[in-house]
Amino acid sequence: MELLDGRKVKKEKLQQLREKLNRCEEQVGLAVIQIGEDPASSVYVRQKEKMANDLGYYFKHIKLAENVTEEEVLSLIDQLNEDNLIDGILVQMPIPKHLDSKKIQNRIHYLKDVDGLTDINAGRLIHNQDTLVPCTPMGIMTLLEYYGIEVSGKNVVIVGRSDLVGKPLAALMTNQDATVTICHSKTKNLSTYTKQADILVVAVGKSNLIREKDVKEEAIIIDVGINRLEDGKLCGDVDFESVSRKASYITPVPGGVGQMTVYELGNNTYKAKMLRKKNSNL
Ligand code: NDP
Repeated sequence: MELLDGRKVKKEKLQQLREKLNRCEEQVGLAVIQIGEDPASSVYVRQKEKMANDLGYYFKHIKLAENVTEEEVLSLIDQLNEDNLIDGILVQMPIPKHLDSKKIQNRIHYLKDVDGLTDINAGRLIHNQDTLVPCTPMGIMTLLEYYGIEVSGKNVVIVGRSDLVGKPLAALMTNQDATVTICHSKTKNLSTYTKQADILVVAVGKSNLIREKDVKEEAIIIDVGINRLEDGKLCGDVDFESVSRKASYITPVPGGVGQMTVYELGNNTYKAKMLRKKNSNL
């Protein structure tokens, strides 16, 4: 069994990105909108800020009060869409319930949508056009490519169908000629499907959902889940100890997909600048 080491790959990929940035004349800019006081969101925003600082990006963190109106959020996004110093905009989720997250995400110009969550970018991905793709699924593809794991012709089973992970990953895998099965909470006999997988991706948020009996010999296991145990430690959705004995490759949690997600945000922000230049919007 070989570990798919997100930390190592992130480090190398960030170095390659820095080399591209050195050749770029203008500074790259990222704006993160945080609404309310969710403590987990503050941790994620700090991670993004650190990544942006490490890459020398201009970073704008805009904190809005819990009771902000939808109109105020939309008008802020309109301003950022017009702001030439800003290449990427993201709204840190979750946001307060009185706000329509789909409407807010879709207000971001698709060329600045570094989370890849606008309907335009989701459609462009399905149509296999070069566009901004959600960071976690993109990170999974980068990780597999780094380890020379061919996707074409493989049976890929994805557990979880969120707009953030499962669905865009299914599109990326299909675009690269994999045969894709998507499972979710209504799937009957989950194990029947997971056992068929050459590549099994689990993005659910339930520790120990996948055990040794649920995977085939030599399978490649990508564990996206992040679960906090009672002792405060993090674990994924896959029982790492038993499954790693059977797998050919497996991602650890932490130190796997999460690391790649951070890198992909940096890369998407750079890519957003390049795409906008190509579309002569700069
Ligand atoms: P969502 O809650 O949006 O989606 C979870 C998916 O899992 C849904 O499609 C749901 O099905 C499915 N599901 C729930 N229970 C079962 C079950 N018993 N069997 C099969 N499928 C089930 O979560 P996200 O996609 O946003 O995130 C998934 C996990 O990945 C979380 O732990 C999250 O923290 C983590 N994550 C990690 C990231 C990283 O960088 N490593 C980034 C993003 C997320 P249904 O659609 O029917 O409800």
